[in-house]
Amino acid sequence: MASMRPQGLAPKQGLVNLQTGAPTFLCDGTVGALARLLKILGFDVIFSDDHNANHLIRESNISKRILITTSHEIAERPLARRVIRVPDKKKSRQLACINRSLQLKSWISPFTRCIRCNKALMEIPKDRVRELVPPYVWDTHAVFRFCPECGRVYWAGSHRDMMKEKLLRGPLGGFTPKGRSH
Ligand SMILES: [Zn+2]
Repeated sequence: MASMRPQGLAPKQGLVNLQTGAPTFLCDGTVGALARLLKILGFDVIFSDDHNANHLIRESNISKRILITTSHEIAERPLARRVIRVPDKKKSRQLACINRSLQLKSWISPFTRCIRCNKALMEIPKDRVRELVPPYVWDTHAVFRFCPECGRVYWAGSHRDMMKEKLLRGPLGGFTPKGRSH
């Protein structure tokens, strides 16, 4: 997935909201890289570098987000009602761990969420991005999306296909991305 951030692009009527209704996450400071990966896969993720366990647990409970952490201390707190403790290292192992609890496969929808803002991306007609992306990108891609928050334009790049392949063989072995033609 690649992106550019043009100036002055605002949501317009008729654009399709791709929000899925999948599980949502609150990732603490121990799992920053995993937070980014979950966003790339299309999940609604808030990252917090607040180290106070009480704050994190309260935010998780109020927002109904599943708290993801590597901390035993946080995960074993009685008030931590929605928490998944993942292994210390390797995003693939962490992702596989979440997948065992939540069956993520059915919700995965890469290229649907802004990595920067966490907003669901919206489709935008190709002819509206001609001036906003490099000519070779416009020539070689059919589907473009943009973030209604920051205006960044995304298109499906080759590394997205590589990521999909890798996940198919790795922690989410056998998943079928939702049927979208991009
Ligand atoms: Zn954004």
